[in-house]
Amino acid sequence: MGIVQRKDLSLAERLYLPEVVRGLSITFRKMFEKPMTRQYPEEPLPKTEVTRGQPRLVVKDDGNVACVSCGMCEAACPAYAITIDGGETERPIEREPVRFEIDMLRCILCGFCEEACPKDAIFMSDELELADSSRGALVYDLEMLKRPKAALQKRIDYVYRLNQRWRKSSSTS
Ligand code: SF4
Ligand code: SF4
Repeated sequence: MGIVQRKDLSLAERLYLPEVVRGLSITFRKMFEKPMTRQYPEEPLPKTEVTRGQPRLVVKDDGNVACVSCGMCEAACPAYAITIDGGETERPIEREPVRFEIDMLRCILCGFCEEACPKDAIFMSDELELADSSRGALVYDLEMLKRPKAALQKRIDYVYRLNQRWRKSSSTS
């Protein structure tokens, strides 16, 4: 069996001086680089139409919510965050939600509800901030979820553009 020949360490190596110098040089270099941290909330996150914030319900130009309480989003939600009770209406759509709640503490901002909706009634907004002093206050009801269509228009246009790909490919297949 061979004997392992260990290298004799110099005094500097025994005192870890090369590592200390290398570490300090990195620290010194980083001091002059642009910081990567963000001073939130003074410096909010940039928001674009790709931003997937909390889901919101579309209110059409006639003032009615676009939702017909079909329950597709409720079924698609993997976090069981949505609760809907539908009611009858005299309008041509026949049904609308009398109760529409999203538990924002459960919501994982996945966007499945947006994808599942056959009526373009629910879209991911760019609203990201979420804070309150009780769990109950973070269960958003119908009134808290409603947004005028114009407020969600950028996201609506983006989703339409995305879905255009599938419309084209399905029309050619
Ligand atoms: S974004 Fe996802 S988790 Fe949140 S309500 Fe919609 S489907 Fe549920
Ligand atoms: S899928 Fe759309 S129309 Fe159906 S209940 Fe959900 S938001 Fe309303």
